Amino acid sequence: MSVIVFLCGSLRPLRFNAFYRKVRKGIHAEVRREIESKENLIILAPLNFLFMKTVNDINFKGKRALIRVDFNVPLDKSFNVTDDNRIRATIPTLKKILADGGSLILMSHLGRPKEGPEGKYSLKHTIKTTEQLLGVPVKFASDCIGEEAFELSAALKPGEVLLLENLRFYNQEEKGDLAFAEKLSKHGDIYVNDAFGTAHRAHASTTIVAQFFKEKCAGYVMAAELDNAKKVIEKAAKPFTAIMGGAKISDKILIIEKLLDKVDHLIIGGGMSYTFFKALGGQIGKSLVEEDKLGLAKELIQKAKSKGVELHLPMDSIIADAFDANANTDISLNNGIKADWMGLDIGPQAREVFAKVIEDSKTILWNGPMGVFEMEKFEKGTKAVAEAVVRATGKGAFSLIGGGDSAAAVAKFGFEEKVSYVSTGGGALLEYFEGKVLPGVKALE
Ligand code: AMP
Repeated sequence: MSVIVFLCGSLRPLRFNAFYRKVRKGIHAEVRREIESKENLIILAPLNFLFMKTVNDINFKGKRALIRVDFNVPLDKSFNVTDDNRIRATIPTLKKILADGGSLILMSHLGRPKEGPEGKYSLKHTIKTTEQLLGVPVKFASDCIGEEAFELSAALKPGEVLLLENLRFYNQEEKGDLAFAEKLSKHGDIYVNDAFGTAHRAHASTTIVAQFFKEKCAGYVMAAELDNAKKVIEKAAKPFTAIMGGAKISDKILIIEKLLDKVDHLIIGGGMSYTFFKALGGQIGKSLVEEDKLGLAKELIQKAKSKGVELHLPMDSIIADAFDANANTDISLNNGIKADWMGLDIGPQAREVFAKVIEDSKTILWNGPMGVFEMEKFEKGTKAVAEAVVRATGKGAFSLIGGGDSAAAVAKFGFEEKVSYVSTGGGALLEYFEGKVLPGVKALE
């Protein structure tokens, strides 16, 4: 039996490119021979960075890059993009390809169309924003695998950009249909995936299409997401604090269990904390609770204790007499919330204790708000945590904000530039931390 340990955790393709290329060109062949010479083999490390190229490794001159981007952006009633972060994030990847002398075929999904095309989910609503951010006109194909689309992509000249209509207007996209993926592949010479947010889905454009390309690579967003996630999960400076919040414990059980092996402190806030209080015998009134997870909450408390992790639950709450922005509010200890009232935010004592733990941390992972931060009356807890993360980052800590609502909260308070990294992928990041293989990443290896 042979055991091979790959020390690739410290390879950072974006920063150590020359070294990385050498590794791939030189040792790569040796590694392959070594692997092939073994009959029984255990490999003890993720290989993705060793075998995954980024856009920096490819010269796109004269090539058409078919690139999966994440243009799933929010729109207002007049179909204006209200948050352009996802488009903005991918611009450096697009600019690199254009600067090389390549052309771009952009493909994405937008929203959740039910059956076939729906005007409100057309990607044409994103053209204006993309043109403004990229500084180049964007052509549009109104059917991603229609005849017109193939004529447009075949005629693209270096420096030109084509956007394909919403991939999810075909249900083959989410099914990961092979024939649909093969059709899409005809648009380009090189496949690039820069959509980390959908990397946990084995859809046609995120995963299946990759097999039709000899040349494929990750864009800068994808590479940076993986690099930053690795920093937290493999190389966390201590003390390492994870902050988990949001509505439900059931969505986050697996990640909490994984994190118990890594972190020094686990802070739990938001709706999910009331299931823990009820499990401990507290009166939580009408607060959010998952009755079927009471046993699990007790188990997690025990596990944290046995692994030496300090578990911090909020001792108090801002309570309300209704789930409403104008509800009457009060402050209550969490083990004795009034019968008809509900906890909608962590209270002042919890804010102080949580902030102290966070400020003394060197690595911070945050996923999920501390309360119903969308309503002003219940935003204080989430804001206090965000401020503490900003202060810790200012003192040199590495802080990773995990997608979805925590990213929205950080944006709401204007702290995006004051934390180390805001992930673009909620579900994908959680699955990565749960230890799952992301099909979109694996397809690039
Ligand atoms: P999640 O998607 O699980 O991260 O949950 C995020 C949502 O949880 C946000 O929309 C919050 O408004 C909501 N939330 C946070 N705390 C509470 C709470 N105490 N009661 C009800 N909903 C909450």
